[in-house]
Formats: sequence, C-alpha cells, structure tokens
Amino acid sequence: MASLADLQFDNRFAQLGDTFSTRVTPEPLQNPRLVISSPSAMRLIDLTPEEANSELFTELFSGHKIWSSAEPRAMVYSGHQFGGYNPKLGDGRGLLLGEVLNQAGEHWDLHLKGAGSTPYSRMGDGRAVLRSSIREFLGSEALHALGIPTSRALCVTLGDNPVYREREERAAMLLRLSQSHIRFGHFEYFYYTRQHDALRELLNFTLRTCYPECLTDAQPELAMYREVLKRTAEMIAWWQAYGFCHGVMNTDNMSILGITFDFGPYAFLDAFDVRHVCNHSDHEGRYAFHRQPAIAQWNLACLAQALTPFIDVETLKTEVASFMPTFEQHYLELMRRRLGWADAQRGDGDLIEQLLQLMQDSGSDFTLCLRLLAEDSTALRDHFVDRDAFDRWHAEHLHRRGGNAEQAEALQANPIYLLRNYLAQNAIAAAEQGDFTEVRKLHDLLTTPFTRQTDAEEYAAAPPDWGKHLEISCSS
Ligand code: AMP
Ligand code: MG
Repeated sequence: MASLADLQFDNRFAQLGDTFSTRVTPEPLQNPRLVISSPSAMRLIDLTPEEANSELFTELFSGHKIWSSAEPRAMVYSGHQFGGYNPKLGDGRGLLLGEVLNQAGEHWDLHLKGAGSTPYSRMGDGRAVLRSSIREFLGSEALHALGIPTSRALCVTLGDNPVYREREERAAMLLRLSQSHIRFGHFEYFYYTRQHDALRELLNFTLRTCYPECLTDAQPELAMYREVLKRTAEMIAWWQAYGFCHGVMNTDNMSILGITFDFGPYAFLDAFDVRHVCNHSDHEGRYAFHRQPAIAQWNLACLAQALTPFIDVETLKTEVASFMPTFEQHYLELMRRRLGWADAQRGDGDLIEQLLQLMQDSGSDFTLCLRLLAEDSTALRDHFVDRDAFDRWHAEHLHRRGGNAEQAEALQANPIYLLRNYLAQNAIAAAEQGDFTEVRKLHDLLTTPFTRQTDAEEYAAAPPDWGKHLEISCSS
C-alpha cells in the first residue's frame, strides 16, 4: 500500500500544456473537517480506509496542502447546454490535481470540485456547497454499487467559508476519481475554435490514455468513436433499467469514457413515471427520463461533428444511427436480469412495456415493485390499481421466468436500498447541522444495496408524502 503522503503522480494531461489547461492553485476551506470518505474509492489509489482519519487527509482534500509532484490545472472545454452551444466553459470550480499512478499501473485523475475560482469561472464563485457535494458523493458511490458505470468519489470536506446561493450556505469540496476527465465538450471546444492541430493532439492523447486497444485498428479514430458510442449506450441502458435520471445531459457533462459524470440535480425514480423531469430548471423537459436515450444519441452526434476533420461524415452518420439498437439490446438484457427471465425471446420488449405501463397508470414505486417481483411476494399485487390487468401480466411473467439460478440472480439485480431523494435530503439536513452520522449510515447501506440490514427497514420503503416531489435546484 502507498501512503497518502507519497502517492505517485504521472500528470499526463498537464504535460499537454497551456492550450488544454491552466495552472491554478486551490483556495483552501476555512477550518476544514471531513464529512465522509469512501473506503472502496480509497483502495483505487492504494490507500487504506484508516488514512481518512489523518489530519493530512483533510488538509489535502480541502486545498490546504498539495503533493509536490501534483500539478493542479483547470481544463478548458465547451459544450451544448440544453441544446444551445456555449463556446467557453471549462473547469470553473474544479481542478485536476493530478493523475495518480496506482500499483496496478492504472492512472486515476484526482479532481477537486469546489476548489475556488479559475480562469473559467465566468460569473461564478468557484465554490460548491455541502448539499451538492454530498449528493455527488452519494450518487457516484451508489451507482457504482449497483454496477452502473460512473466516476467515483473519494471524500467530501466542509469549511466555514460562506457561499451565497438562494440562501447563505457553507463551502465544501468533493474529491472525484475518474480514469479521465475528458468530456465530449473538450472535442467541441477545439473543433469550433478551429484549432485542428490541438484537436488532433487531444484525439491522440485520448486514444493513447483511454482507448489504447483502438490504436492497432486500421482507423483508430473510428474505432474509438464506436467504443465511446457503445459504452454510452450501455450506460444509458443502465440508467433506464434502474430509473436513474441524470438531469443535465449537456455535452460538457458527457464523459469520453461513457460513464455517469457530473452529478447535478439527478434523481432515481420513486413512482414510475416516464416523463419525470428531475431538474427544476429544465422547463421544457428536455432531459426527462424517457428522453435520455435520444439525448445521448444527440450528444453523440455532437461529438461526431467535432470529429469530422478525421472521420468520413457518412461513416459517422451510420455509427450514430446504430445507437438505438445497441441501447435496446443492453436495456433488454438488464431488464431480463431484473425480471429473472432466462433467455431472450421475441416480444420481451412488449411484455416489459406492459409492466411499465401498469406501473405508470398506478403510480407504483419502480424499485420496490421490481424487488417484490424478484422475491415472489404476494404483496406486489396491491401496488396496482387494475389488479386483473396485473394478474394477466403476471401469468405471462411466470411463463417467461427462469429457474432458481435466474431467481437468485434477480435478487442480486434488484436493490433493497436506493438513493431516494428524500433519503439524501434527510442526510443533508443533518450534515448541515454538523451531524454526519446519517450521511455515513446511508452511504454504508448503499454500498451493499442488495443485502438486507437489520434496523434499516424504513430505508427500504417508498418515500413518505413529504419526500415524493422534492425540487432539486441547479444552483449548486
Ligand atoms: P455544471 O452545471 O456543474 O456542469 O457546470 C457548468 C459550467 O459552469 C462548468 O463550466 C462549471 O465549471 C461552471 N460552474 C458551475 N458552478 C460554478 C461556480 N459556482 N463557480 C464557477 N463556475 C461554475
Ligand atoms: Mg458540468
């Protein structure tokens, strides 16, 4: 195991120079304390969980100290936000501290979110508040535990610095881990500013660091694009199969790794509702739950546009068109697993649709119903208004269902505990009063979401009335 003080850094992105990022020093939090840390994320960079208890840990992840071999930089990128192009975004409140090289030979970006202002802060203060930092921490770690591709979160620290949003709040920092922080918007920035040499360099860098297996292909750029599309389609399939709404699917929030990235006002569905919009600021419902696949495809078309200097346009169009079938295939696989169906059959999609329609009509809790189904619980029927219709569906389901092996697998695919908005809200309210026990308890439950814990029955329930329609604002 490495120790915290002497992590090995290999800052490959920083070495690309000032065209791609700007050196910036973090602005420390006042009187910093540790809110929470993730033992499994710590292991990714060879740290033992106990190291989170050291003073050094809190100092490093609140901007007070920095490794001599780290090289904090703010990255430049642009992107399409809510359908419109924004020419200059970039890390306005986060810094790539450096790339840790772990003992397995993997590189992990350490990104400190909420580290103060940068040349890309525009009108912002460069800060993140406690509630959004906790939400990103819990979201990343909960998705990971469900098996959903995502960036990770190492820890959250809190300071006394006041931050002004709708009300006065406290500044916090989140340490995000990812094997890359390159977004679709990085490519768009160099394409739209007509810096094609830099675009080429970025592409080569991404191939070398994220997609080395594509380098031996006759057309490495195309092979990489195909892989990004495939991974993105898989990620969206996970979101749709588990009721995850991202909320801000702008191209600057789309990772080139095809993982869930930049958590904002996200939500897991409680009552099943295909039209659910989790972002209070998304008035048009552009990023509504059922639109996520089409939006991902639209975003992939934006990425394709930025790659037109290197890949033939007609070829790219064909690739973009392959998104929906790829998505559908993964989605059906995941849903079959949740339903305990043994093999693929024609008509599976329709039968799944029928169940979802019944849930939609009844306002049934999505996660709870699928868990009850996997448990073969007779209580499930009561979650539907039209019980006869449900019985007819259920009879078909019993025909489709596999044996013991599939049922055991279904129990491992249907979480008992889910990061519901109201649970996050309870944990945040306590943390804002200085009590971090609730956020830590929730994190513990969510790291093993398929295992029932004693004394945690209320965490497995559908939300109480007050917790059903919480509005999550974009101001974070
Ligand atoms: P997000 O909504 O977090 O994906 O951020 C979109 C863009 O706004 C990114 O360029 C962020 O760096 C920037 N941004 C968001 N919040 C702030 C803030 N408080 N200060 C400076 N820049 C910010
Ligand atoms: Mg963002």
